[in-house]
Amino acid sequence: MSYKLFIPGPIDVSEKTLRAMTQAPIGHRSPDFVALYESVQPDLQALFYTKDPVYLSTSSAWGVMEGSIRNVVHKKVLNCMNGAFSDKWHDVSLRCGKAAGALQFDWGQPVDPEAVRRELATGEYDAITFIHNETSTGTMSDIAAIMAVVREFPEVISIVDTVSSFSVVPIKKDELGIDVLLTGSQKALALPPGMSIFSVSDRARERAATMRDRGYYFDFIEFQKNHEKGMTPSTPIIPLIYALRSKLEDIMAEGIEKRYARHARLNQTVRSWVLAKGFTLFPEEQNGSISLNCFNNNLEIDLPTLNKVLKDKHHLVIDGGYGKLKGKAFRISNMGDETDETIAKLLSALESALTEVGNFN
Ligand SMILES: *Cc1c(COP(=O)(O)O)cnc(C)c1O
Repeated sequence: MSYKLFIPGPIDVSEKTLRAMTQAPIGHRSPDFVALYESVQPDLQALFYTKDPVYLSTSSAWGVMEGSIRNVVHKKVLNCMNGAFSDKWHDVSLRCGKAAGALQFDWGQPVDPEAVRRELATGEYDAITFIHNETSTGTMSDIAAIMAVVREFPEVISIVDTVSSFSVVPIKKDELGIDVLLTGSQKALALPPGMSIFSVSDRARERAATMRDRGYYFDFIEFQKNHEKGMTPSTPIIPLIYALRSKLEDIMAEGIEKRYARHARLNQTVRSWVLAKGFTLFPEEQNGSISLNCFNNNLEIDLPTLNKVLKDKHHLVIDGGYGKLKGKAFRISNMGDETDETIAKLLSALESALTEVGNFN
């Protein structure tokens, strides 16, 4: 049975994208591959707002999140934590054997730039990680304000996760001075899972070159050496690169600015509709994500039953809360290819399912 995903990742993948993946693989050291690899660079650089190369990693985002730690953290990394993914990143830093500071905020709170300044001012750190859009809580932090603080500390290499905000809002890598900007295939880009896309500054690569235990699979220097030949270090997930090329065509055909406007509009449509039903937003409204909405289950709906009705009768699913928010919150994605029509269908399905499950009028 097929059903449409409104969970915040993986998200719904279009027929066009799926078809693009069915092309026969090509040799990854062949001129055809070089042409494919090089064909995606200009559009990726435009979306990253960067002059730096954009690398394709055959891994989910966590591969590059862990790899970045191993490439640039020499002294100590400051991990900003405000949800499930950013909390985990601190754990990953420690598992890599790094000295790591935990800058913790309550779930649903954004990363506070002043707190970042206080920590970095200790002089202990040479790297920082933060997540622009904490998917687990639907909270977006002020990336420009955080980066303004980070730029005050030239020794600090910044690693920024935009897995669920990339191409939803503009993230101007070079202008903001982001050293490592990474995203994943299965969230905002509406591709199947399996690839992480990232761009690395010269500064970060220079740091990497001095790191003796940075490993091989995620080695920034290996990525750069191969990039210069139009290739990846190891055999890449070629079907996903076809899918990426197809998706970049879609994005450019729509227009980047129109894409941003569409996401903002659909996010607001969902938010207003659900708030009008009497639910409340999990983060404060001004910190609410534009990629998805995370609502409190303050009306105590039976979320598993709601999702069963949505799936069986309406062929779609939403999310019933991540980690410690399971059952207490629900999340609805508006990333990727959603339109006014698909969101209208979702809301009418939700209306009907809530009536059935929640004694709504
Ligand atoms: C989903 C997600 C990740 C992890 O991605 P994987 O593809 O599972 O490795 C990391 N960060 C954020 C913000 C995410 O939403």
